[in-house]
Parts: sequence; C-alpha cells; structure tokens
Amino acid sequence: MTPDPGQTSQTSPPYPAGAPASEQLIERARRVIPGGVNSPVRAFRSVGGTPRFMERAQGPWMWDADGRRYVDLVCSWGPMILGHASPRVLAAVTDAAAQGFSFGTPTAREVALAEEIVRRVEPVEQVRLVSSGTEATMSALRLARGFTGRSVVVKFAGCYHGHVDALLAQAGSGVATFALPDSSGVPRSSAAETIVLPYNDVPALEAAFAERGAEIAAVITEAAAGNMGVVPPEPGFSDALRRVTAQHGALLISDEVMTGFRCSEAGWFGLEGRPEGGAPDLFTFGKVMGGGFPTAAFGGRADVMAMLAPEGPVYQAGTLSGNPVASAAGLATLQACTPEVYARLDEVSEALAGAVTDAFTRHGIPHRIQWAGSMFSVFFREHAVRDYADAQDQDRERFARFFHAMLRRGVHLPPSCFESWFVSAAHDDEAVEVAVRAIEESAAEVA
Ligand SMILES: *Cc1c(COP(=O)(O)O)cnc(C)c1O
Repeated sequence: MTPDPGQTSQTSPPYPAGAPASEQLIERARRVIPGGVNSPVRAFRSVGGTPRFMERAQGPWMWDADGRRYVDLVCSWGPMILGHASPRVLAAVTDAAAQGFSFGTPTAREVALAEEIVRRVEPVEQVRLVSSGTEATMSALRLARGFTGRSVVVKFAGCYHGHVDALLAQAGSGVATFALPDSSGVPRSSAAETIVLPYNDVPALEAAFAERGAEIAAVITEAAAGNMGVVPPEPGFSDALRRVTAQHGALLISDEVMTGFRCSEAGWFGLEGRPEGGAPDLFTFGKVMGGGFPTAAFGGRADVMAMLAPEGPVYQAGTLSGNPVASAAGLATLQACTPEVYARLDEVSEALAGAVTDAFTRHGIPHRIQWAGSMFSVFFREHAVRDYADAQDQDRERFARFFHAMLRRGVHLPPSCFESWFVSAAHDDEAVEVAVRAIEESAAEVA
C-alpha cells in the first residue's frame, strides 16, 4: 500500500499492534536474506515485534508499508541530519547522477568533499574517501600498523567501530585482558592482537601500556561513545589517551563516524577541543558526511597519510571510493550544516529529552539522560553510565515496552537501549509535538 503523497497518513496513531504489510514483507525477506535484514539491529531482536518496512520519508517523517506515519528518531543512525529528502541534497544528487554514476577515475566532486572535511576538522590534513565506516576504521588501523611497524591495537569495551575483525572484540571489564572474539568467524589470532579496556578508565590504559606499550600500534576510541548509548569521555580521558599514546609511540585514532559533523561543525573534536598534548593522529568519518549515501573517510596527519598507496607501502583501494553521486550528497549535506542547523538540533533534542525527564520523573521511572552535543540517549537506570558494564545494567525489558508504546503512537525510536536518539534540523514543531505527546503517554503506559 503506497500512501498518497498529498496526505500525511492513512491511519492515525495510536496504531493497532500488528503491521500486516511489514509482517508479509519480513516473511518474504527471511526467505532470501538472513534474518530478513541487511544489518542485524534492524531486525528488532532486542525489542521484539516486526520491523517496519519503510516506503518513503520526507523531513522528520517516515511512512511504512502499511501507510502509517512516524516521527523518525533514528535518522538512518545519524546521516539524515537535514531530514529526509532534503531538497538541496536531492538537487545535488540529481545533478551528479545525470552526469554519470561512477567513472573509476578521479573527479572534482570528491576533491571538493575532501576539502570540506579538511577545512572543518583542523588537525585533518589529508583524507581518503571510502564507502563505509567499517572500511574507514579498518583502513585507519592498517595504516597505523604500517606506520608504527607494530600490530597490537587497544579498543574500549562498548565502543563499536564497524565489523572489522580486530575491532569486534569487546570482552568484559578488567585490565588488559586478552580479548576473546565476540563474533564467531573472527580468528583468535586477530582478537589476540586486540586489547579491550574499560572506557573512561585511565589507570587501565596506563597499565596496558606499561605492560605492552612497545607492541601497541594504536588506540582507537569513539570520540564520544555512542554505541553503548551515549557515554561521553570524562574530563581528562581524551588528554590521557593523547599523553599515553605519545609516550609510547602509538597513534591515537579518533572514530568520529557517528559524532563527526553531528556534534558540531567539526564533530566531537569541535566541541571538546584539542586534547592537552595535541590532536589525535587519525580520524574516521562516515554517516553525516555521506548525507545518506555510502561514503566515509579516514584522515589525519599528512606524514601518516603519506604511507598510503600510491605514495607509500600501505595498500588501500575501492572501486566506488569517492563515488561522484555519494560525494555530491555528502558535500551538499556538509555545506548545509550551518550554525542554525546545529542550533535547531539542540532545540529539538532538548525538547525531547526534557519531555522524557518530566514524564519519567512524574511516573517514577528511573532514568538517566546523557549527552554528546545534540546526541543523547535515555538509560533506563538511575545512575550515571561511564562504561559498558554500567550501560548493560539497565531495565532493558522496560525499554522494549517503551519502544513499542512509542511506535504505536507514531514515533520510531532506535530499536535498542544501547543507541543514541538522532534528530534532524527538519524536525519541526509538529514532529516535536507528536513525539512529546507520545513520550508522555508511553511513560504512563510503562510506569
Ligand atoms: C556506524 C559506526 C561505524 C561503522 O560504520 P558503517 O558505515 O556502518 O560501516 C564505525 N564507527 C562508529 C563510531 C560508528 O558509529
């Protein structure tokens, strides 16, 4: 069923519990796609129920296969910072596509996108464009290993850097444990090169480096963690990362795939500023910088980037890297990300988070809201979350009920309590009102 584009929805919330068209589609999908989805979180496993198949989206709204309208608080997991089908980005994409989809040669568009990134994030002198955040972190890691001639990498539990073998290891808390692979299919040898430490834990970091500093190529961290829910670095943590890595000749990789160009014009780096002792050596970007198209990047110090082929010995390549249509979308998106856009993101986020605080407090629901710029998440627990162990200790069952209460009221939250809520500059007063009312009613329902 295709909704008439002229009208907002064919039914209005609260919607009935079922979603017949999506139920049919997921059944069809499961026959030809494992789990019916091309990225696991979309399957709704942690909240139950049927994922909604979306048919179209405009501004802050998405319409599903049953013709129901939702306020979108996922925004494609971050990229849709201007809202869906932004006219300006659409025009840029249409223009680019009309001139050809992919050439396998350099193009001016990818240069313009690289220039825009370099202009915005001051320590980034050069970037290379790739097609996904995973590729960006994987390549940054290879580059760091090539540059230092070392193989061990340090990551933090609860930080997600894409599905790179060496970075899927999460392990429990504890100091400098040898990680076991988190995913089947990741070789032990790959996980053995990864040290997993608790986030925000400077003594653990120092201990790991004291023991194995000479083997460590890099520390990779989410600039502000967003993949265990939003857990910003505590004051001094980013400084400590810089100090300890520099002392031991390891590189510091700041993964800004989620936070880049969302937390501010220059991402988390723009908000937090340069750590004491200097900027990270490498950065990774994705999500917002593609404007909804598959493009991502890694970049940083020119002397490190010079190690990449064809200048240097570290090989890295991609048939669709710097794709002209994706580059046009990314460039148009970044150029539209003005201070007014960031101000609107703040306003919308504050209105939503304020509604959660009011409603949850009124109904006695323990909760904790944490921020990184306009990214925020709602933890279903009372106390602050500073690492992954904290994040796991929350009322996930109540979150699942809240999620479905919201969905029935026409608000699509991320289907997991370990995610940020994402808003866009296109979230207008109507979208905010619908969401705020849903928050109030859903809180009453799950109290
Ligand atoms: C989303 C994300 C990635 C992976 O990006 P993909 O485009 O999904 O491969 C890597 N790092 C962080 C911090 C992310 O949020």
